[in-house]
Amino acid sequence: MKSYKMLINGAWMAASDGGTRTLTDPANGEMLATVAEATPDDVNRAVAAARQAFDEGSWAASDNAQNRARLLLALAARIREYAAMLAELDTRNCGKPLAEAEADVSDAAACFEYYAGQATKIMGETVPVPMNMLSMVVREPVGVAAQIVPWNYPLLMATWKLAPALAAGCTVVLKPSELTPLSVLELGQMTIDLDFPPGVVNFVTGAGEVAGAALSSHPDVDKIAFTGGTDTGSLIMQAAAKNIKRVTLELGGKNPVVVFADCDMETAAEWVAFAAFANQGEVCSAGSRLLVEESVHDVFVNRVADIARTIKLGHGLGEGVRMGPLVSAEHRQKVEHYINVGKAEGATVLTGGKRPEGDEFAKGNFVEPTIFTNVTPDMTIAREEIFGPVLAVIPFRTEEEAVRLANDTEYGLAAGVFTKDINRAHRVVRQIRAGITWVNNYHPTFNELPWGGYKKSGIGRELGKYGIESYLETKQINVYLDEAPLGWYV
Ligand code: NAD
Repeated sequence: MKSYKMLINGAWMAASDGGTRTLTDPANGEMLATVAEATPDDVNRAVAAARQAFDEGSWAASDNAQNRARLLLALAARIREYAAMLAELDTRNCGKPLAEAEADVSDAAACFEYYAGQATKIMGETVPVPMNMLSMVVREPVGVAAQIVPWNYPLLMATWKLAPALAAGCTVVLKPSELTPLSVLELGQMTIDLDFPPGVVNFVTGAGEVAGAALSSHPDVDKIAFTGGTDTGSLIMQAAAKNIKRVTLELGGKNPVVVFADCDMETAAEWVAFAAFANQGEVCSAGSRLLVEESVHDVFVNRVADIARTIKLGHGLGEGVRMGPLVSAEHRQKVEHYINVGKAEGATVLTGGKRPEGDEFAKGNFVEPTIFTNVTPDMTIAREEIFGPVLAVIPFRTEEEAVRLANDTEYGLAAGVFTKDINRAHRVVRQIRAGITWVNNYHPTFNELPWGGYKKSGIGRELGKYGIESYLETKQINVYLDEAPLGWYV
């Protein structure tokens, strides 16, 4: 069993009090690794290293952009070289099917490549003003970025934060989820092997309430980027308020998928199952509320249920497995609690709703893909993010009602619309208050496009040219081109 330490100032360090945490495989309970458990002192050391690298090193300088780009490209190449190891590690650590982990790793490499390109294209402008002045706008890195990420896409969520921050010239202290730090720590070794300057990339591992809280309230951190639950996001924003840190938040969702009767039912049914059950439903953008036109409700929902019943559960490394275990026993309890609440409030379990039977599932945190019908919009399972393989189905009669139901949520992350009517597709998608939308498909995610939510789903955007914005400050420079005196006092 491997032991991991923390990456601070270019070297591996144990926790200041020697504390560690043992991680297990959520599919079978086998021990995976031990990892250092950060104390607030460790966070202080990591922030000091990042501060020094930013203030005194050459990382942030504009004439270092090509070097930053080269290092990010080299990191991407290293990720591709070790893709199999990283994917297996994410599967063993968080439970996802290997094919999904492989796609995540490939996306992570592409994300570093994308932002390597951006590093040399951070540009300002000159602006005409009503004086004889050369007025310029330049962009500069925001400083030390603290980044806190969740467990559902361990390598990829970290990459979405690291790549734009490093491209911009920021130095970073990143805290992975205490449940899934392993692939991030392997990435740390790659940054050492590639001679990233000490202090530019720091990884602290440990509990949210300790290491995460210390990071989000640290006075020497200039910006905090967080992905996780909405309640945690609120705590982080409050902590960040004390020294006016810049804050970006990628939070939860209760995302609607609107299915009109005129869609291609067979194609839509598979996308809808994918929307709800990919990555065990542990996806912020999961399509967890299915709104179906009443005239096709029964036929459509039964087809989705048929597909759900064919989903192969098992260890993510198993042949043909399309759904792994939930990340932890505690998280399964939370999901099962929601299933019980759904039943108690009067919804009907059409399929799933329980743990799968069989010895191979006995030691893992498995839950069957679950579909609830007879759901009303006021029910808990229609309103709260479950973050598991649970789909709540609500019928609608008219387009107006579909839009109203879709927007009947405090969240605004993602949405899907299925119809063959192109005008209706545009009309509906523009009326839904969400940052990420799909028409006649669901879930494809691109490094090139902005990712983020409306309403309580967050603040700011990651990815694409938008993703680097929150790591940049904007400065104006005014150069007086006239030799004449001001003439105000003399
Ligand atoms: P979480 O909020 O419990 O934890 C996320 C991270 O925050 C972890 O690293 C955790 O250690 C840390 N944390 C916990 N308490 C903290 C505190 N008081 N101060 C500072 N840090 C703290 O979320 P999770 O259970 O790991 O992930 C699931 C949530 O993440 C879901 O709500 C999901 O929707 C959301 N998510 C959102 C996106 C997105 O892009 N919008 C992507 C993935 C996940």
